[in-house]
Amino acid sequence: MSDSPQSFENFKLNKQLLEAVKEAGYTKPTPIQEKTIPLALAGQDILGIAQTGTGKTAAYVLPLLMKTKYAQGEHARALILAPTRELVIQIEQAILTLGKYTDLRYACLYGGVGPTPQIEKIRAGVDIIIATPGRFMDIYSKGELFVRNIKTMVMDEADKMMDMGFMPQIRSILEVIPVKRQNMLFSATFSERVERISHEFLEFPERIEIALQATTADTVAQTKYFVPNLKTKITLLDHLLQNEEINRVIVFTKSRKNAEAVYQYLERRKHGEIRVIHANKGQNTRINSVDDFKSGDVRILVATDVAARGLDISMVSHVVNFDVPLIYEDYVHRVGRTGRAEQEGAAFTFVNPAEEYHFGRIEEIIRMEVPEEPIPKEVRIADTPFAEKQAYDREIDKQRQKADPTFKGAFHEKKVRANTNPHYNPEKKKVRGNKNSKAKRNRNQMKKKGGKR
Ligand code: AMP
Repeated sequence: MSDSPQSFENFKLNKQLLEAVKEAGYTKPTPIQEKTIPLALAGQDILGIAQTGTGKTAAYVLPLLMKTKYAQGEHARALILAPTRELVIQIEQAILTLGKYTDLRYACLYGGVGPTPQIEKIRAGVDIIIATPGRFMDIYSKGELFVRNIKTMVMDEADKMMDMGFMPQIRSILEVIPVKRQNMLFSATFSERVERISHEFLEFPERIEIALQATTADTVAQTKYFVPNLKTKITLLDHLLQNEEINRVIVFTKSRKNAEAVYQYLERRKHGEIRVIHANKGQNTRINSVDDFKSGDVRILVATDVAARGLDISMVSHVVNFDVPLIYEDYVHRVGRTGRAEQEGAAFTFVNPAEEYHFGRIEEIIRMEVPEEPIPKEVRIADTPFAEKQAYDREIDKQRQKADPTFKGAFHEKKVRANTNPHYNPEKKKVRGNKNSKAKRNRNQMKKKGGKR
């Protein structure tokens, strides 16, 4: 992620949107947002090659909300096409979050449920439609969709839509909506098919490619630990910090809550000077903490990504990813803070059962498999509390549903590790998991202790 001082205020967004962005906790645009938002606001067609985890949804939702402005008339003026019901729902979430101070009306159209409530929503008047191509055409064929006012169209995950065989429906949609409109196409990959549809669909597009690539410095030794729960993560961190070579370390967490929990625990353990930064800390406190850390007076800085984004903190000896980052690119960015200028650095990532999927995606992006270490035997492996286990199971179900829209959820099913992760590749695992490896023994030990994975 670039360190340029770009901020959302620099975009021509109105204050309703800026306020919502702030409340969402976004302090700085991601690279895809930095590039897409100004061009989209200027009316350009966009071809965005970016994966989930780059912030691509907000990159097109913000300009789309800005252009659609406020509730007006009865008929939709913007259309977002997505391959699956799950993605439609995710986009709806982004519209709910970012459009909370607008009065824009939207309808989500997808299969698997009866069309009547969706048709009723359209009849009541809509500004934005988020739809899977099949259901969109079904409802259109019933004469329930007036499409002549559509001025902006987005295709999200275009590659997946084509893989799923939606091309005929997409062609029909392109035939019925007005020719004069702004188009944005997002795809995780730029295959020949995507290139072909982009020629049909886009006019002189600006191509924006966000390569989530292996820029993790060679000098950084990366290690992952599979850790069954939050409590064990904290104990493992406590254990690692006993190593004095770890002299300037940033511990990244995904939420304020985890940042505070880690900070409070470590402070009691007297591992040296420690500070915490997150969005709830005032700007001055944050600046002072970072200055103290940079000067070497502070050994440990606990930070959320949101708080750390854009701060020039480098030359750290170690990075601990207490949580796997949700924006995958942040992994590269976090790890890049260590091992700079030929210094040796090390990055440890703690991966809980629900995070395995995300870390697998990160490994795809950085095109390497991060070596796994077993949890040291000195670290007590805690039992996973019931509520925490349930939360993981729910999250894993969500991941499976995303990968396979027909999957109905196995929340109460007994799970085995091999089928909880849609990216799990048993062949790969065989190569990586030496039968008698310490890591495996350790995992078995964890299972016995009830930390099911
Ligand atoms: P996406 O790639 O659109 O699926 O977004 C991935 C995640 O990043 C979502 O949870 C978003 O809420 C979050 N996100 C998007 N933009 C930002 C930003 N500028 N700062 C922090 N988080 C963001």
